[in-house]
Amino acid sequence: MKRILQDASFKELSSLVLAAGEKSFRARQLYEGLMQGKKISEIPVSATLRAKLLEEYEDEPVKIKETFLSEDGTRKFLFELSDGNLIEGVLMQYKYGNTQCVSTQVGCRMGCKFCASTLGGRVRDLTAGEILSEVLVVNRLLGGTPKERKVTNVVLMGSGEPFDNYENVVRFLRNLTAGEGIGVSARNVSLSTCGLVPEMRRFAREGIPLTLTVSLHATTDEERRRTMPIAKRYSISEILSACEEYFRATGRRYVFEYTLISGENSDRAHALALAALLKGKPCHVNLIRLNEVKERRLLAAGEREARAFLSTLEKEGISATLRRSMGADIGGACGQLRRYYLEKNPPSSPQKEEEED
Ligand code: SAH
Repeated sequence: MKRILQDASFKELSSLVLAAGEKSFRARQLYEGLMQGKKISEIPVSATLRAKLLEEYEDEPVKIKETFLSEDGTRKFLFELSDGNLIEGVLMQYKYGNTQCVSTQVGCRMGCKFCASTLGGRVRDLTAGEILSEVLVVNRLLGGTPKERKVTNVVLMGSGEPFDNYENVVRFLRNLTAGEGIGVSARNVSLSTCGLVPEMRRFAREGIPLTLTVSLHATTDEERRRTMPIAKRYSISEILSACEEYFRATGRRYVFEYTLISGENSDRAHALALAALLKGKPCHVNLIRLNEVKERRLLAAGEREARAFLSTLEKEGISATLRRSMGADIGGACGQLRRYYLEKNPPSSPQKEEEED
């Protein structure tokens, strides 16, 4: 695979263009074209510069291979990377704008028991420019430009664990939020982690004020270890103190994701325990009923149980919402679409897969 030009910041791209003996306005032209989601070969730079670039860089790092439209307006994208790997993304339409959910790795090695993305382990990390390209190509498809964005919000909640690909993800965030680029405000970005505590702490020092979201899904370490192997490494109390650090550094309220699984974490006692754990903290809880994954035996909590859970939290003074499960008819859960696709169209050469750790 060639290199990814969209990895570069405007400054880096400028030095590259100048080093190739071109004038600086060429760098601006090139950067603007890339931020519009164009392929290198579509951008009107000089023929020599284009030829030089195409020798070294991928013309189109992320291709939209298929689009699925759900009845509720949610769109799901299957993207193809230059090496043939597949990733997926979702676009959810809300009153205030469009939120795109991006993947940060091909597969995942965190091993959460409810998640489809991790079933085949991690294949590879995405580069910063590949993650950015997911946004650029979808914004373009919807008729958006960097000035008039159709993708207004970005959530790092697709396949992969963002903090297991720390450097690339931070570079992506800097390029996504750079004023001279597509310029999505950090306030409109959420990063979801299963709770890699050292990286959470490190991230607090990066000065990127986004919405830090932690997938909690349990109220005690013992219960958390049943569904999330990462809980063997870091405790809930370490996670809470890393969240506090992030809040002190950025002033941003943090969010906990809590997936309601029948017979596992969804009764009244769990709601009370969760409220006790989070009382008085500058946080919000996002509840979601499990999106059932056919390879897993876990079942979703019922509608009524989910609403009761929410109301217990609210009575206890915890800010919380129960999210609608969107796009269920098109394989909405993390990693489902890629798996369906790979089952229907097995890759000709087996993909490299890593063991879960
Ligand atoms: N690795 C990151 C981000 C990707 S998962 C993380 O763990 O947070 C995004 C969110 O979807 C997480 O909260 C995850 O726990 C949740 N999730 C994964 N599979 C799910 C499923 N089948 N049903 C409901 N939520 C799921």
